[in-house]
Amino acid sequence: MAKILIVEDNALNVKLFCDLLAAHGHEPRPVTDGRYALGEAISFQPDLVITDIQLPHVTGLDLIEMIRDDEQLKDVPIMAVTAYAAAADEERIRAAGAQAYVSKPISVAKFVAQVNELLGIEATVAKAPETI
Ligand code: MN
Repeated sequence: MAKILIVEDNALNVKLFCDLLAAHGHEPRPVTDGRYALGEAISFQPDLVITDIQLPHVTGLDLIEMIRDDEQLKDVPIMAVTAYAAAADEERIRAAGAQAYVSKPISVAKFVAQVNELLGIEATVAKAPETI
């Protein structure tokens, strides 16, 4: 189980991400306003941050830079979610310090695969119960 901070202002996406991550055994914590995201990250100490780029008040890019500048959070993996599809945006997002990038509309399979990769979870099928 991983603690995953979700920074997203779209209520439907918040519900989708939280439901998906909880179904995979994780502990999601949503934040809908970029202004509160860094404080929440500092108190929650997530294993992964998933952030929308188009946020009110503080953009996802600013948030990624703030996380990278924080001594306690600088190594936490970050996955950006954005409606922007342009390659230039992906470069800016990666340059800011995000390791992964998924574009909306979200492919559930791709989303889960990226989360697993960032958490170092192998996406293999369950092992056979050899010792039962
Ligand atoms: Mn948004």
